[in-house]
Amino acid sequence: MRSEELFAEAQTLMPGGVSSPVRAIKPYPFYTRSASGSHLLTEDGENLVDCCLGYGPLILGHAHPAVREAICSCTEGGWLYGTPAEKELILARMIVADHPSVDMVRFVSSGSEATMAAIRLARGFTNREDIIKIEGGFHGAHDGVLIKAGSGATTMGVPDSAGVIPDVVRHTLQVPYNDTEALSSLLENNDNVAAFILEPVLGNVGPVLPDENYLSEVRKITEEHDVLLILDEVITGYRLGIGGAQVKYGITPDLTTFGKIIGGGLPIGCFSGRRDIMAMTAPAGPVYQAGTFSGNPLSLSAGIACLQQLRDNPGVYSTLAENARAIGESIPSAKSDGFVNLGSMFKLFFRKTPPRDYREAKESDTEAFSVFWNKMIKKGIFLPPSQFETNFLSIAHTEEDVATIAGAYSECLS
Ligand code: PMP
Repeated sequence: MRSEELFAEAQTLMPGGVSSPVRAIKPYPFYTRSASGSHLLTEDGENLVDCCLGYGPLILGHAHPAVREAICSCTEGGWLYGTPAEKELILARMIVADHPSVDMVRFVSSGSEATMAAIRLARGFTNREDIIKIEGGFHGAHDGVLIKAGSGATTMGVPDSAGVIPDVVRHTLQVPYNDTEALSSLLENNDNVAAFILEPVLGNVGPVLPDENYLSEVRKITEEHDVLLILDEVITGYRLGIGGAQVKYGITPDLTTFGKIIGGGLPIGCFSGRRDIMAMTAPAGPVYQAGTFSGNPLSLSAGIACLQQLRDNPGVYSTLAENARAIGESIPSAKSDGFVNLGSMFKLFFRKTPPRDYREAKESDTEAFSVFWNKMIKKGIFLPPSQFETNFLSIAHTEEDVATIAGAYSECLS
């Protein structure tokens, strides 16, 4: 197999052979040669239905014509200026218009950069030092949030990374998801908390869904304690609908981080929110933040094209949700109790009930997941290779693709 050969050499050139840990599928990952629509073509000649979709950005599927056209025509005019460009305003206007909580945005190049800057900004604005995150919440791979982190960190068994010094850890406090009492009592006893950062839906553990009223309670509690609420919508932004989780659940965060879909599949991130807070960002204010590739015209072009497609076709969200539901319905009833679905995010947890938090998610039978994952790939379905990563659908998945995925779920679980 060509993938096996490539991986053998890759391991001599890159740690673990990969550019990001979750890609190191055992015994060796397949290498992708090209991708189109809902499919990946591997270096081994296999054609796979993709339910990973670059871990979320590709809601339109691979190589969507409108996004490709936007990228290609942008290259005609060069792809990096080191100056402002009008495209920044176009994407900024869209994000501001779609999110009532957002007055201003700052573009960066990844979700990690966005959360790192949002946390710094919250500290600069409040003059406080601590932050609270959710156990199992993942906000990228920077020091302050690599503590009980979900996603690949949990999959690889390193939720607490070596190299993150105790002085940093000391300022990152944790509460379980769906536990408002834990949040309240932590805040009762600590007046040095700048912000509570959370994924509205724990996409990096599953998805794990919020209990009814959890998010509105969180907003109330943070407000009562004068603590900023940073909603990390890197996954949920434009995934759960126009306006993301905050519009869906009717909450108003102080700051929001975006990434993934807003770049149409090219590298991007953005932190955003209330004008008085955002105005603390350099050069308007004293909180420093900068980046060579920030607001680069290629990512902006792809993002604008992608969001325009979604805004022009808002009906896609209900089609996506119906398709994910159909996949859930194909699961034999004896195994279906751990199925979780919200819009186009879905996952089968190998446990008796949908988990409510990280601890419950970790009780899942990861061996059984692994057996299932291997059966699915043999049937030509690529799912994210971890029990703790959400599956996605795109608008490129046809009825036939959905039937193929559903059929594979049904067979591989019987
Ligand atoms: N926040 C969330 C909720 C994420 O899911 C991720 C990545 N999966 C990040 C932040 C980090 O984004 P990036 O990988 O673009 O740095």
